[in-house]
Amino acid sequence: MTKSDPWLPFDEINQDPWSKIIAVKRTSGKKIIGHVLPDVPEELIYAAGAIPLALAGAGITISLAQAQIPTYSCSHAMGALELQLKGALDSLDGVIIPYVCDTTRNLYHLWRQLFPNVACEFLRLPKKLGDPDAKLYLGEEYLRISKWLTGITGQEINKDSLKASISVYSKSRDQLKLAYLKMQSSPSTWSAQRVISLFESSFRFPREEHLILMNNLPWDVDGGDTSDRAKIYVRGKVWDPPEITKLFDELGLTLVGDEIVTGFRSVMVNPIVNGDLFQSLVDRHMSTIPYTGYYVDPRKLVEDFVERTRSCGAQGVVFLNPKFCEAAAFDTPDMVNALKKNNIPNLVLETSSRGTSMSQIRLRLEAFKEILADDLP
Ligand code: SF4
Repeated sequence: MTKSDPWLPFDEINQDPWSKIIAVKRTSGKKIIGHVLPDVPEELIYAAGAIPLALAGAGITISLAQAQIPTYSCSHAMGALELQLKGALDSLDGVIIPYVCDTTRNLYHLWRQLFPNVACEFLRLPKKLGDPDAKLYLGEEYLRISKWLTGITGQEINKDSLKASISVYSKSRDQLKLAYLKMQSSPSTWSAQRVISLFESSFRFPREEHLILMNNLPWDVDGGDTSDRAKIYVRGKVWDPPEITKLFDELGLTLVGDEIVTGFRSVMVNPIVNGDLFQSLVDRHMSTIPYTGYYVDPRKLVEDFVERTRSCGAQGVVFLNPKFCEAAAFDTPDMVNALKKNNIPNLVLETSSRGTSMSQIRLRLEAFKEILADDLP
């Protein structure tokens, strides 16, 4: 880590989160809890005295997992399993897998079967977000997970620890939001590649230390040439392939919003602290943009999506759909049709760690930029 490059620590965390977390564990003495993305409340893990570490399988080279999980599984699930099979997660003290789709449900059962000595729990997220009982149910589920966490760390989650945890995470999200805005006004310094690296690394390092690292960034740099850039909105799961943000920078595409689980979606809502802190976390989950696969009235799902793209002034939408993700494949046609009706250009990219061609993606994004360029002032 050098003082001269304040961005470097974040890249280093993303390049090798495993060695970094081992070092953190050694110095802090804290337990490390891995959580498969998305939507495991990190605040609960932190409040139990552990450090949350997000597990994303995209971008992982697969050599062992395909013998254990169907080959038509998304890279996200397959890559997470590969990490455990390779021993990369050996320093973790537990893993939480959320129920977001059939694939993650299968992944949980496989995990229990293959690694009986690894502490692993399933977070049973409600699928029907608008159901009146869903909030009550999720509150109980968070309590159940909290007890499981306490069993690992020995530290009970109480009002004070949860309040402190919510405060750290809210500060971090506020700072990341500011970074996202900087990316739009000063793209040469606050490039998409750098800013998304901040977001990604925040999920893989103790948040309070991540906040301190962010203090070293050039917050006073403001302004820059934004004239021939086009504004895009991105929907997808993770930044896959990871090089996609570099491509956005090179092609002059500015992110004005996204629904990626480690992108702007992750910082849009902070819990509103009131009497029941568990319920504050439940409310946060319910007000976050629904992940693909959750059930929302189909008409509302599409209308809200179009409204989000409009309200941030996006000229076009890029879908980063994970290959073999049935849920994304199910949602996308309705969204594409709605965008067409509203004259909003869109590009659907399907990506996977197994066989994504960066040159093809570049070509398609270049052509998309040309379409958007007709719209530039
Ligand atoms: S929703 Fe799609 S990308 Fe997410 S885990 Fe399920 S299959 Fe994979």
